[in-house]
Amino acid sequence: MRRLLRVDVGVGTARFQEIPEEFALLGGRALTSAIIAKEVDPRSDPLGPENKIVFAGGLLAGTTAPHSSRLSVGCKSPLTGGIKESNSGGQAGNRMGRLDIAAIVVQGDPAGKKWILHVDRDGATLADGSTYWGLGNYGCADALREKYGEKAACVICGPAGEFGYRNSSVAVTDPDGRPCRHAGRGGTGAVMAARGLKAIVIDDSGAERPALADPDRFNKARKTLVAGLGTHPVTSSGLPSFGTAILINVMNEAGGLPTHNFHYGTFDQAEAISGETLAKNCDERGGKHEHSCMTGCVIHCSNEYVDKAGTYVSSGVEYESIWALGANCDNPDLDAIAAMDFQCDDIGLDTIEMGDTFAVAMEGGLLPWGDAQGMLKLLREELRNGTELGRKLGNGCEHAANEFGVTHVPVVKHQGIPAYDPRAVKGIGVTYATSPMGADHTSGYAVATNILDVGGHVDPLDAEGQCPLSQGLQEATAGFFDSAGLCVFLAFACLDQPESLAAIPEMISARYGTEMSVADLGAYGARVLATEREFNQRAGFTQADDRLPSFFSTEPLPPHGTVWDVADQDLDKVCGWSPVLEL
Ligand code: SF4
Repeated sequence: MRRLLRVDVGVGTARFQEIPEEFALLGGRALTSAIIAKEVDPRSDPLGPENKIVFAGGLLAGTTAPHSSRLSVGCKSPLTGGIKESNSGGQAGNRMGRLDIAAIVVQGDPAGKKWILHVDRDGATLADGSTYWGLGNYGCADALREKYGEKAACVICGPAGEFGYRNSSVAVTDPDGRPCRHAGRGGTGAVMAARGLKAIVIDDSGAERPALADPDRFNKARKTLVAGLGTHPVTSSGLPSFGTAILINVMNEAGGLPTHNFHYGTFDQAEAISGETLAKNCDERGGKHEHSCMTGCVIHCSNEYVDKAGTYVSSGVEYESIWALGANCDNPDLDAIAAMDFQCDDIGLDTIEMGDTFAVAMEGGLLPWGDAQGMLKLLREELRNGTELGRKLGNGCEHAANEFGVTHVPVVKHQGIPAYDPRAVKGIGVTYATSPMGADHTSGYAVATNILDVGGHVDPLDAEGQCPLSQGLQEATAGFFDSAGLCVFLAFACLDQPESLAAIPEMISARYGTEMSVADLGAYGARVLATEREFNQRAGFTQADDRLPSFFSTEPLPPHGTVWDVADQDLDKVCGWSPVLEL
């Protein structure tokens, strides 16, 4: 029987309850958003005592479904002011599933107390966490694993969260015990820290996998999905060989790699930071690519990056981070990018937001363009220590732009735009504009169909067809991946292989003894989005928040010379806004 773990940091209690009927078939993002929408006042202060933070594995957590250990973290976001679900790889989702914990809901006013939550087969306990407060994520993970055992999965807020930065992540340990996977977006780390909760330690020793209503049906569907992943060219070859960084050259050739704070669509030194260069460095120096962020991954898109002496630098040096701290800042130094990636992981900063922030700071004159060592120094000395300058940079791209007098600000709903220019990849522009999460590529990855010809092809430079593409992908992402707790990279195979897509509702049906079809799970995703949009409206969001910054419509992007021209009324249809009456 799936359970909720209710943690009150004000009174120091951690109590299990049976999952209420209304949440029974909800998991991952569907569950975090349902709880936040029901239990948090949309007008409340995100860092005040009324906000809650919810940690949920997906509907398939703890099972043998491939890639099923994503952990959703939900709250009201201090960055966007709206509802937030940010999910992460790592081991925690799987461990929670094996302990039959659907979600951990943390609430209350800690009144200065610092806590560690320890969860295992025998129960859950809040313990004094003051000795861990102030530690970076790596040091904290090491200390927790030393005390609680190597098998423990850790979920941690870093110094960025403790300082209340609106750019602050929640870190999750990977199979090697490294806190290098992050629920990065939207300031979740600051919400966790505001509850006085430094870390959750999850030990599933002795726990069994969750019971399956129909094991044969489940295993048949699982095998179908694994076989599909093994034959699709993106999941069987492209991602394992070069990781997500394979997209640097792809996007550069497509003219959609945002460069110099979104002023250009190509970076003339892209090759130096490409996936091909990253893989070559790993091979020559003794690092690893084809690394996994969670048990049960069969794609292995991640990496362990090492320096020229073969010493570990960072893990999960991904496309978005390489772009944000590289091309977007005119920086071609891959070794320095990996070092910055480590700093961000250890401090608990989202690399996308950080790269957007550095770029506007460069445009405002804080640093010369391309000054990799200057960025590293700011991370090590200012952001890590919560100095006045660190706080100016730690509250996100829009905040830094205001501090440095910059008006060219790539944000939607106050959240920094990721690594695809919407003038050259218009489907992803629709996702940025209309996602309830703010600018978020993962919530409807139209790049697949615009650029990679996965799931068909829609011309990336033409406004036509982008809204239905993004809407369908947003609903599918919310239902099939974010709520099932599956890595969204499964979508590459699922978009081209109907049998792989159908395997996901099949596994859910076999796990819970219900009947769920592809259409049902798509409708489920649409309901998740409706819940999130309704929360945002109650928080004060209007149609004006479902728009891209105006410079995308007025500044043509080299090399294509295109502008953003998707009609506002089409965006409104995606979001379910009623047409505005012409009086
Ligand atoms: S494909 Fe990549 S992101 Fe997805 S589970 Fe595997 S290593 Fe993690």
